[in-house]
Amino acid sequence: MICSVTDNKLSIEKSDPGRRGLWCKNPLRAKAKLPAALLRKSPPRLPELAEFDVVRHYTRLSRLNFSVDTHFYPLGSCTMKYNPRFNEEAAALEGFAALHPLAHDTCAQGTLELLHDLSARLTELCGLDAITLQPAAGAHSEFTGLLLAKAYFEARGENRTEIVCPDSAHGTNPATASMMGFTTVNLASKPDGRLDVEELKKHIGPKTAVLMLTMPNTLGIFESNIEAIAKAVHEAGALFYMDGANLNALIGMVKPGDFGVDMMHLNFHKTFSTPHGGGGPGAGAIVCSKALAPFLPVPTVKKENGRYVSDFGDGRSIGKVKAFFGNTGVLVRAYAYMLAHSAKEFGEIAVAAILNANYVAALLKDLYPAYSKEYCMHECVLTPGADMTAKGLKTLDIAKGLLDRGFHAPTIYFPNIVHEAIMIEPTETESKETLDEFVAAMRDIHDKGIADPQALKDAPHTMPVKRLDEVQAARQPNLRW
Ligand SMILES: *Cc1c(COP(=O)(O)O)cnc(C)c1O
Repeated sequence: MICSVTDNKLSIEKSDPGRRGLWCKNPLRAKAKLPAALLRKSPPRLPELAEFDVVRHYTRLSRLNFSVDTHFYPLGSCTMKYNPRFNEEAAALEGFAALHPLAHDTCAQGTLELLHDLSARLTELCGLDAITLQPAAGAHSEFTGLLLAKAYFEARGENRTEIVCPDSAHGTNPATASMMGFTTVNLASKPDGRLDVEELKKHIGPKTAVLMLTMPNTLGIFESNIEAIAKAVHEAGALFYMDGANLNALIGMVKPGDFGVDMMHLNFHKTFSTPHGGGGPGAGAIVCSKALAPFLPVPTVKKENGRYVSDFGDGRSIGKVKAFFGNTGVLVRAYAYMLAHSAKEFGEIAVAAILNANYVAALLKDLYPAYSKEYCMHECVLTPGADMTAKGLKTLDIAKGLLDRGFHAPTIYFPNIVHEAIMIEPTETESKETLDEFVAAMRDIHDKGIADPQALKDAPHTMPVKRLDEVQAARQPNLRW
């Protein structure tokens, strides 16, 4: 059976009764004696295909995808970064991969030592005191952090019901707050994209539990008033939460604990090179101050008399947010990445992330003005120029034009506070050559779009599906194209 590029049949439609993949009989199958009551009455309705048909079917489907291994993926805010193959080797080591989750501490010393050392290095990098590695991703870490805040205020006999989020926050911040039953107080940013400290002071008080601040914020800007922000939050008796998902912009250069952060989360898939995991099985962490440490999920790992042991705390823990120590296989990868860098090299990661974003912004600014006139951090937020807008060309058209040129489209229409936003995060692991190709593609989109606007409005022209009605596609997905 031939799987051509235009082949759009489902595997069940390719099925040919009686066709089989295996040439040899499975010896186990012949021996298995299941009770008759458990046997199917009729064979399952599965595609009947030869092994080669299956391999080609799925390989063809996989090649229709964009991925970090095949394409530049400049997604703003939710970095898709290179996953070093060395990490995979480390995670596959039998001692880690084959460890039973219920193994006694005495039989799991290697893994416990790794978790202990990873914890120590991360708290050091963040300038904080304690950590949990249990959460499965960034948003799950936010959930964990707000559980800590609840437990902390409950223990103090305080009833605080509000979470303050600036409009430059990542969308998961207010979403987590309302999921946890808090009232979200939205703060408008200043025209330069930063949090307005005076505005903040007006909105915090005895009801405020937490300020959740995305740093750098979703405009790719560093909150230079960070110390004044922390002071105002603490004067109101509230906690200062930093969304550190994009710590790759700061790592090794500053320690958030130094500017007054009480707790923050990390995304291992954004800063520590682990695979994204499509919403899990990923890994995140909450790193926090001494005051919050007693409430952390259990177990954590401590060292006692030269041995590593599970620490179940003193009864004040919020409990568990994930089984065992979290997704340990992912944590092994993050640890391998950490060991591959010295402290000085961590600073270089942040420099490269910032340099790459500014390089792209500088080479595009004549055609795609940046929202911020300042240097950005790890990502830049651009907009279509006035000449494109005059021709009715929108950010969506630019994103579709990128697909035709072999680039995954960046995040668009986010942050919401920027009209027609295109948010680009090249990440620290991309070369100058790749960035130059991307810039050339963006400039080509501009030139061709101005010359023939309709052609760009009809893009993509080279993808299996053309321009979709995105709302309808999300609400009534037609998976058959
Ligand atoms: C990605 C991201 C999150 C959410 O993290 P997930 O791991 O996708 O759940 C939260 N905040 C910021 C700033 C992010 O970039």
